[in-house]
Amino acid sequence: MTAKTILYVEDNEVNRRLVQDLLIPTTYRLIEATDGESGMVMARQEHPDLILMDVQLPKVSGIEATRTLRGEPATAQTPIIAITSFALAGDEEKAMAAGATAYMAKPYSPRDLLGLIRRLLPEGGGPAT
Ligand code: MN
Repeated sequence: MTAKTILYVEDNEVNRRLVQDLLIPTTYRLIEATDGESGMVMARQEHPDLILMDVQLPKVSGIEATRTLRGEPATAQTPIIAITSFALAGDEEKAMAAGATAYMAKPYSPRDLLGLIRRLLPEGGGPAT
């Protein structure tokens, strides 16, 4: 069985390390991109089962990347969790309007993020739907 793959698009190394640690005890396979442009490229190449998309990203914002991927057949249905900033009012609305499935505002509890991931992409048996 192929591990379910999560693509995390995040420019901040500390945040990437937090999610790496969070997913160690799980069966998810994590792949990463560090800006919106390479995030879209990786989404097209790797067909992840779920995408964690930071909103504030270099080159192409997470909002723009989400909107673009939603318009492409291969990623039209892929769950996308937007990682928004609590301090930036309006991020959540923009992310949801761009097609995000859900959002998590920074700073978030790692346990809450893992719970949301598991709700949208159950771990373990069976093909991803
Ligand atoms: Mn960022």
